Amino acid sequence: MRRTLFESLTHGPLTEPAPKPDEAALAELAESVQRAARVRLGRSLSIRHVDAGSCNGCELEMHALSNAFYDLERFGLRFVASPRHADVLTVTGPVTKNMREALQRTYHAMPDPKWVIALGTCAAAGGIFAGSYACVGGVSDVVPVDLHVRGCPPSPNEILKGLIALLGHVNGKAGIP
Ligand code: SF4
Repeated sequence: MRRTLFESLTHGPLTEPAPKPDEAALAELAESVQRAARVRLGRSLSIRHVDAGSCNGCELEMHALSNAFYDLERFGLRFVASPRHADVLTVTGPVTKNMREALQRTYHAMPDPKWVIALGTCAAAGGIFAGSYACVGGVSDVVPVDLHVRGCPPSPNEILKGLIALLGHVNGKAGIP
């Protein structure tokens, strides 16, 4: 016991250090989302999330957007608890049969205009769960999807890039430069 305690005090951690995130790139990405949201909506962007049956890997990356490092609320992006307050619906996982109705009800509870982002490979077409007896399929099999952000799981930066791409696309369709 004494030896273990001594070794833990004299040796560093055995795990590899986490890669240093690029703070400048993050700030640039988040500001782009904020600008696009203000041009399109005249205000900040509210996001409602539904886990339709994921393994939670995608949630971990998405929740990282709210941690002290990413701190997205400073850029006018926030997750909301009610679909009635949301502009964007993010969905992770393949849609399980148990979650199909909840996803549909969430979508229909959101006011227009609204957009849906399918996050992760499973949300795109079922991923490793495709064909399971418990799954309906990808998110687009249940509600209309405006954007797929692929990856297993997609990183927080990829999710931000997806939001920028979505808002840019919406602005383009509306004739907003
Ligand atoms: S895409 Fe990967 S991380 Fe996300 S729910 Fe599917 S298996 Fe999990």
